[in-house]
Amino acid sequence: MLTHTLGFPRMGLARELKTALEAHWAGSLSLDALLALAADLRLRHWRLQREAGIDLVPVGDFSLYDHMLDAAARFGVVPPRYGHAGGPVTPDLYFRMARGGQDASGDVTAMEMTKWFDTNYHYIVPEFARDQSFALVGDALTDQAREAKDAGFPAKAVLPGPFTFLLCGKFADAAGDPLDLLPRLLPAYRELLGRLAQTCPWIELDEPVLAQDLPGELAATFRDAYGSLIAAAAPARLMLATYFGGIAHNLPCVADLPLGALHLDLVRDPVQLAVVARALAPETSLSLGLIDGRNIWRVDAAAALARIELAASHVGLERLMVAPSCSLLHCPTDLDAETRLDPALKRWMAFAVQKCRETRLLADAAAPGGRERPDVAAALAENRAAWEDRRQSRLAVDDAVRARVAAISVDLFHRPAPYPERARAQRAALALPPLPTTTIGSFPQTPEIRRARRDFKRGVLDAAGYEAFLKDTIADVVARQEALGLDVLVHGEAERGDMVEYFGERLAGFCFTENGWVQSYGSRCVKPPVIHGDVSRPAPMTVAFSTFAASRTAKPMKGMLTGPATILCWSFVRDDQPREATRRQIALALRDEVADLEAAGIRVIQIDEPALREGLPLRRKDWDMALALAVDDFRLTAAVARPETQIHTHMCYAEFGEIVLAIAAMDADVISLEASRSRMELLSAFADFAYPNEIGPGLYDIHSPRVPSVEEMEDLLQRAAAVIDPARLWANPDCGLKTRAWPETTAALAHMVEAAKRARKRLGLA
Ligand code: GLN
Ligand code: ZN
Repeated sequence: MLTHTLGFPRMGLARELKTALEAHWAGSLSLDALLALAADLRLRHWRLQREAGIDLVPVGDFSLYDHMLDAAARFGVVPPRYGHAGGPVTPDLYFRMARGGQDASGDVTAMEMTKWFDTNYHYIVPEFARDQSFALVGDALTDQAREAKDAGFPAKAVLPGPFTFLLCGKFADAAGDPLDLLPRLLPAYRELLGRLAQTCPWIELDEPVLAQDLPGELAATFRDAYGSLIAAAAPARLMLATYFGGIAHNLPCVADLPLGALHLDLVRDPVQLAVVARALAPETSLSLGLIDGRNIWRVDAAAALARIELAASHVGLERLMVAPSCSLLHCPTDLDAETRLDPALKRWMAFAVQKCRETRLLADAAAPGGRERPDVAAALAENRAAWEDRRQSRLAVDDAVRARVAAISVDLFHRPAPYPERARAQRAALALPPLPTTTIGSFPQTPEIRRARRDFKRGVLDAAGYEAFLKDTIADVVARQEALGLDVLVHGEAERGDMVEYFGERLAGFCFTENGWVQSYGSRCVKPPVIHGDVSRPAPMTVAFSTFAASRTAKPMKGMLTGPATILCWSFVRDDQPREATRRQIALALRDEVADLEAAGIRVIQIDEPALREGLPLRRKDWDMALALAVDDFRLTAAVARPETQIHTHMCYAEFGEIVLAIAAMDADVISLEASRSRMELLSAFADFAYPNEIGPGLYDIHSPRVPSVEEMEDLLQRAAAVIDPARLWANPDCGLKTRAWPETTAALAHMVEAAKRARKRLGLA
């Protein structure tokens, strides 16, 4: 039974690639040195995987920035603004496409970036022209395949398939179906596969779009295309890889295709196995994605082996392959590098290297007589023991939390009064002007703030010194907001390096790794918190800083919390209970914080849910249920507040039309949204539905240092007032200001406050 992986983390254990990329961009590392490091990392990663027992190592999973950008570069898909005259895409051009550029050679914006399916990885969106042509202008992939071969590694070339490449891209003018370009793209793919076949025994085309909803009539096109690709790849065997969800709903696309292998994500959807197995052509192997490529937990070997047995009963053991569910890009590199994790918790985990070993173990154990091998038997026994330990460990289960969840009753989801009544109470309590002005929470994270945090974490600055520094910062932020004349103030979030990590560090049931980095985009990595056990809140988390901030002003001070859906979405979540069960516990813990903030005199509380939408399932049919559950947890968090306490929420994206009903069901008193880049178009979604509560559509884009004029923001407010009752309208920026510097922040907010004043007058509200 062959083992393989679909991809390995790119950065290196010490994030060497990040360091080298950033040095190269800063001009202090030559291109040659960067490329040499990249080649070295590839070799190192192949070796690690082989040593861990992987038969076929992936080639092409490595990237200097992103695999979709690699695909665009390979086929010459370069938007006209980069002035590319054809031919290979040089590294310099490649990085300009990824990051934009402002220098002697011109001023160009970067290509758009968006989330890779439902992961937290961001890819570069291929941008097609109407008359786009495709030619194989660069073939780094074949070069790398040769690198692997020369080094003695049996390799499988890995690249996005043509459907995923097109469907994850867009036309520059945003209208039309990129799939229209397929006939022009396929010859370039065939040429590439023909070349790769000289070097690689296997070629993998990734089509995660098969886990999404696809138009039914696509099946014939898909089968035709793959028929020709299989032929072009001969004598290499073509593997079609699907992941992030099941593909049973798109079975007609793949049924009876004479593929070398079909890869399934059996972690996300184990049930598809029987249906898909029955539809395979007799020569097609089945690659079982049994190891979770997106999480950090050990496989449950007994359960995975039962799946292998089931698969063998359908297609026979000799047609099976074993692999992680998807690329290991989405999990950290090596658990052995963790020296400070509680050993009891560490025993439950597996990072990329360990997941390769698990893949080997499953293959060995499933082979005839495999379980009798002493090394296999010992590894299986250890796996079973770790799981038994995890199932009964106090690190996973907290009886008090369980009892509290069991006792939840429906009334906990409802504010004590409906919105109109609450609005009256809040108006009386807060005495705000019409079109109140506020911000989304964070203020500039200055170098001084980052330095103080670093010094504190390193022990150079003691707790008292750090707290004094933070209080000074907060006092300063409050004074600046007073001077600007904002109506509802914030403390500025200087104490938070990250809006999820901050809460994770204060909640029971979370732990943190030292080196658990995962690529977010380009050279950016994140280190998600790990939720290993039942979640509870031992002590208030935000009350001290919020009340300190409130003590510095007579104006309302907004308390700031990260919501349950966002905490879940940006963490590694335990896999021994449903994700919803974990989110419910988080909601209860945050509910306690809402109650404590209120009791401490905070009368406005914002619960951020920027990740509510991105956590949605891949298929539309599953959205309603998922949204209903997420909305319930938001309500469970917020509903403890008294009528006169104003609950805000914040989300930062513009596609609201599809989820506006769910947003309304959250029943926040006020919602702030990203809106400036779409010039308030999203408001029509709210107008059509007659959104019942208050809204703050973002009046300016915080992602750029640009300072919009008073007139510009007043105009946006007027447009908003045309579709939403001005009595329910707020004035605020798009999102938090942590990535901005002070000069533009002060200037933009001054303009915003002035715009609100003028709009009040013009609308006759003042
Ligand atoms: N309150 C957070 C901030 O201002 C919200 C961030 C977000 O929406 N991503 O930074
Ligand atoms: Zn935001």
